[in-house]
Amino acid sequence: MKITFPHIGDAHIVGSLFFNEIGIQVVSPPLNTVSGLEKGSSIAPDEICLPFKLMISNFISAYEMGADTAVMPATIGPCRLGEYGELFKSILDKHGYNFNWIIIDTPTAIGKKELLKRLNLLISERNCKMADVFIALNKTYKVIKRFESLEKRVRILSGYERSRGECKKILKECRSRLRNSKDLNDALILIKEYHHKLSKVIIDKNKKPIRILLVGEIYSMIEPFANHRIEEMLMDRGVSFEKPVTLGWWINNNITNPFYLFLFARKKNKYMPYSIGGYAKETIEEGMNSKKNKFDGVIQILPVGCMPEIVSKSVLNQISREEQIKVMTVIFDEMGGEAGYITRIEAFIDMLGFAKRGEKRGNECIA
Ligand code: SF4
Repeated sequence: MKITFPHIGDAHIVGSLFFNEIGIQVVSPPLNTVSGLEKGSSIAPDEICLPFKLMISNFISAYEMGADTAVMPATIGPCRLGEYGELFKSILDKHGYNFNWIIIDTPTAIGKKELLKRLNLLISERNCKMADVFIALNKTYKVIKRFESLEKRVRILSGYERSRGECKKILKECRSRLRNSKDLNDALILIKEYHHKLSKVIIDKNKKPIRILLVGEIYSMIEPFANHRIEEMLMDRGVSFEKPVTLGWWINNNITNPFYLFLFARKKNKYMPYSIGGYAKETIEEGMNSKKNKFDGVIQILPVGCMPEIVSKSVLNQISREEQIKVMTVIFDEMGGEAGYITRIEAFIDMLGFAKRGEKRGNECIA
């Protein structure tokens, strides 16, 4: 069995470490590129959202590299991600890419028994006990959480470092060495080493950097190709920022804490009392709290074709007016050019800077 799964952030690194630990061979497709996106778009339905087009091209590349089993995580709807697995299968079968499919859904959607049955399919060919799978899963989760904690520190400290780019360099180096880790234990030791390295970076506590909250559609938040590497762009400009939605956050709220979605759906807010799919309600709640959490502004990111986030965009506009929160929405499309995004994001950072310092531009005070 040679398994594959689509790219989303660092999932290919931690996923490969996990499957190698339980003796399953992984075929990891090349990282997302513009030509890959074109390949995916050529067989995907026209109106489907961008993540689908990228993911289907990952499956095609992996098939061409010898993968025979596709593992696809899913979440209960009502956004389109819930249907992705079935749609991938139907389109790829039609085009002659005949995978065996294992769709990993949440216990809330399919029940614990069915989830275990599907996980069992993964190890049926291996001489591996379910207990070993759980031990490996537990270690993988630790790798994800500890690496994300390093990322979180880097995002915040990027605004305070004395020498611009040091934190980003540490994170990039750690990620690149993580790719070559022998196993999960090795990965945990490596991450600890980089937490230590980060503690040695000289910080200027007197700096008052722009603080931004990054919210939006989950795939664009996690996959750097889909957001044109917005995080690196912010770090390069000395912005201190936070990003609540991550891979670990998703695992936490869908798998390790299956009641989260149920409890969150019951929690009402005046702007979006009900969940409308994807993580639109989370976007709204984070946006509402951004002032209380002392962020200077909010950047919402989403891919073209995303239904839930286009709704939250209009709601955020209203929140922005009523609560005096500065919000910018960036919609990423299928074009490879980045100049337009960079100009808009830089202009937003400048505007937040003027407002923070209470500076006047022309006759008007932006603050
Ligand atoms: S959240 Fe939006 S972009 Fe993501 S899968 Fe759902 S509809 Fe598509």
